[in-house]
Amino acid sequence: MTENVTIVENIHQSNDQIAERNQQQLQAAGVFSLNFMASPGAGKTSLIERTLHTMKDSFNIAVVDGDVASSIDADRAAKAGATAVQINTGGSCHVDANMLHSALAELTLEDFDLLLVENVGNLICPASFKLGTDKNVLIASVPEGDDKPYKYPKMYQDVDALVINKIDLMPYIDFDMAYFQKGVEILSPDLLSFPISCKTEEGMDAWLAWLEEEIKHRS
Ligand code: MG
Ligand code: ZN
Repeated sequence: MTENVTIVENIHQSNDQIAERNQQQLQAAGVFSLNFMASPGAGKTSLIERTLHTMKDSFNIAVVDGDVASSIDADRAAKAGATAVQINTGGSCHVDANMLHSALAELTLEDFDLLLVENVGNLICPASFKLGTDKNVLIASVPEGDDKPYKYPKMYQDVDALVINKIDLMPYIDFDMAYFQKGVEILSPDLLSFPISCKTEEGMDAWLAWLEEEIKHRS
């Protein structure tokens, strides 16, 4: 059993080394980068589309989409005005640093201000694979239920910002926002959070204002 544990640690070590290289490459090119993580259907692609809609005229934006199969999300990002690269993970349920490294090679990084990475929809292992992005953003959504911070603590512990999407559905779903937020608070006190609806655009201004500030202050 000890050998197996060692193998897993080695995978993470080399992943972290490649993540560091990604980080250096992105910073050298002056690109601010986000890694979006969420369960399937939480609204990663919709948030990317909304963000592109408002910001594409002021900033040059690249999107890297990770999916087990298809290029549906990269097609949507390209249609919304981004330069998009699709990663097909070949069955893997997360994007790792090496996959992002290959995707970055497809882009002329100096041409971009912002890189949005859409991870594979999954609330477990994406939290364990650093990519080298500036910030990790978790997207939760109301229909998933208010118990997710309690059930997937690692995901809620290691992120820099939390988007709570589909708040327009609050009147129709038993989602106790106070219970949800208490679970988040225990794991990540003071976590920045953005309650939004990609559908009605409620809350989008705060999200976009934060992102613009972060891009302007990038190193
Ligand atoms: Mg998607
Ligand atoms: Zn995985």
